[in-house]
Amino acid sequence: MYEKVEVCPVCGSHSFVNYLTCKDHSISQEDFIITQCTHCSFLFTNPRPTTARLPRYYQSQDYISHKDKATNPINLAYKLARHFTLRSKIKLVHKYQHKGHIIDIGCGTGHFLQQAQSAGWKTTGVEPDAGARAIASELLRDTIYQSLDDLGDHTFNMITLWHVLEHVPDLNRYISTLKKLLTDSGTIFVAVPNHKSYDATHYKEHWAAYDVPRHLYHFDQHTIAKLFEKHQLKIIDTIPMKLDSFYVSLLSEKYLRTGIKGYANSILTGLKSNSYAKKHQLEYSSLIYVIQRK
Ligand SMILES: [Zn+2]
Repeated sequence: MYEKVEVCPVCGSHSFVNYLTCKDHSISQEDFIITQCTHCSFLFTNPRPTTARLPRYYQSQDYISHKDKATNPINLAYKLARHFTLRSKIKLVHKYQHKGHIIDIGCGTGHFLQQAQSAGWKTTGVEPDAGARAIASELLRDTIYQSLDDLGDHTFNMITLWHVLEHVPDLNRYISTLKKLLTDSGTIFVAVPNHKSYDATHYKEHWAAYDVPRHLYHFDQHTIAKLFEKHQLKIIDTIPMKLDSFYVSLLSEKYLRTGIKGYANSILTGLKSNSYAKKHQLEYSSLIYVIQRK
């Protein structure tokens, strides 16, 4: 039912210490330990549910990245943020690749790919959730694949993973697969939460972006660079996601049950987080890593 990670996925060390104990607030209410590698400082949820058990931790009406209704203030904030970020995501893509074939892995309901389509990209989507896959498939009038293993030997000059890599059990195998899917001059965008942000240190074990056990890995700029380095891939740029600090703070306040005060707190923490990051090596709540072959 649960498995222990014995080898650090980043550096191969066997020596870990307990870092934090976090509660799964959205589904099981179970506690999970996050351990830290004593050699490279990488954080990961450990022990964690086995791959067979993991799906049950995604079965929530509230797991909004897959749903389309804005029924409460948090979902509404998420939808608003999505609306504004979709356009900026496409703009960002165009800074590195102008046209070609884009694959969005964990494409959810397909709204990002729809924007890419109208910007002239040939698109492919991968989404494990059957409900989201059906919506995306209808929206894009295209087949959406369930997993990377269904793709065959296509290659893509743009690969995007918006808040996906932290969910993937077999991290190194997954990155090898990404590399196989990438053309020689292609670009990968990986967006993940950053546990070195101000909002992470402020909320500690209540930081919503730990999101155990769905988030198996908790990256920072140092550990993610080391991980991709291992696969002869390099980070050529790091880009802030400035709305995430507000959204993650809002969710963290909800878990702390701060009530109506939570809305003001989360705006304040979001602002503090973004201004801290500006002065401290881009330690924003979430970061987009732009990755290419070495
Ligand atoms: Zn390590």
